Amino acid sequence: MDELLDLAPCGFVSFGDDGGMLTVNANLTGRLGYDRDALIGRHVETILAVGSRIFYHTHLFPLVRLHGKAEEIFMLLRAKDGEQVGVLCNAVRRERGDRHVTDCVLMEVRERRKFEDALLQAKQEAERAHQALQARTAELERANGLLESQALELELQQQHLEDQASELTMQGEALQSLNDELLRRGAELEQQRAAADEANQEKSRFLAVMSHELRTPLNAIGGYVQLLDMGLHGSVTDAQREALGRIDRSQRHLLRLINDVLNLSRIEAGRVDYTVESVGLADVVASVMPMMEPQIAARGLLAEVSVPPAVIARADTEKVEQILLNLLTNAVKFTGAGGSVAVTGGNDTSSAEQVYLRVSDTGSGIPSDFLDRIFEPFIQVDVSATRPSEGTGLGLAISRDLARGMGGDLTAESELGRGSAFTLALPKDSST
Ligand code: ADP
Repeated sequence: MDELLDLAPCGFVSFGDDGGMLTVNANLTGRLGYDRDALIGRHVETILAVGSRIFYHTHLFPLVRLHGKAEEIFMLLRAKDGEQVGVLCNAVRRERGDRHVTDCVLMEVRERRKFEDALLQAKQEAERAHQALQARTAELERANGLLESQALELELQQQHLEDQASELTMQGEALQSLNDELLRRGAELEQQRAAADEANQEKSRFLAVMSHELRTPLNAIGGYVQLLDMGLHGSVTDAQREALGRIDRSQRHLLRLINDVLNLSRIEAGRVDYTVESVGLADVVASVMPMMEPQIAARGLLAEVSVPPAVIARADTEKVEQILLNLLTNAVKFTGAGGSVAVTGGNDTSSAEQVYLRVSDTGSGIPSDFLDRIFEPFIQVDVSATRPSEGTGLGLAISRDLARGMGGDLTAESELGRGSAFTLALPKDSST
């Protein structure tokens, strides 16, 4: 029997319930490096590795006692030189003679360890891969969270932009309707302006006709007054002569007024022709001053003229004379005895394209609140004060219209009680 066991290609050991080894085959002793005699009678633990000894006590032996057998139990044997040998063990417990004996067949499993190591390694790798995966997942989750919050922020920004865009659209629409309204108002104003222009021209035409119609009977009145005064209709008493004088003055005043209205309405209706030429301002002054000298002398005024001959304007000579005459008449009219009237002229220092003619006086001056209104028709500062000279309040309006009609302007400066200065600006004749 023992010899037969020695031929077996696997290990064999049998031991009693006390653990004492009874039989060990050659395969086993050879593998573990023991002499058979060194093992027989010794406890089976002798050939078990430390872990398997505990396993033997806690599992293998109780299993075999309970079920009579155990199959394919892995155990580690311990060779004499300490090498650990892995085996699969099939064990059977049975009665032999008067005792229980456990027979174990041990099949070495060299490859199993290798597989186990590979398995362990694979498991560890799997574990590592799992951990890496978890780390990666966590990272992805973090990135995802970040992306989500960024997406949220983007959504908020987009919302904000949309709000702004719709606000801009609303503002744009409001501006558009404002613009439409402005255009509409502009067109309306343009219409109104055209209507006003038309009405103004109509008014000027009417005044021109009316003035003409009034002049004829007025001239007749003047003529008859003269005939009466000359005694052609019988002798005239002193009282009648005085009355005729009053009628004559009133007739002249009315005639002057009508002439002025006629002139103004002609200018405003654009019915005045300007003969524009080179005008030496000194020449204009020279032709106008003689007309004024009697009045200047009568009022005891001092007159000064200072206009260099080289000051040349592009203008209508007659109109410039008319303006200068009007300005001088006013200056004389509003300056008391002992005062002075000056006419100066030159090249305009504020504009290289203009020349000027200025009439200054040391007269009554004009209150500042009237100064910008004296160019309006029929404006007179104090009628009672000027009553003896009986102005019409149209001279300055006509003069300024004529100045503007020639591309120039008429402006006034004055200080109440100290005098006034009227400046006629005209385009310079640049050919000279
Ligand atoms: P008129 O002299 O016929 O009344 P104007 O249009 O020429 O009409 O003048 C308007 C008013 O301006 C005058 O009534 C007068 O009150 C004021 N004015 C004009 N020139 C002078 C001046 N040189 N000094 C003071 N007041 C003046």
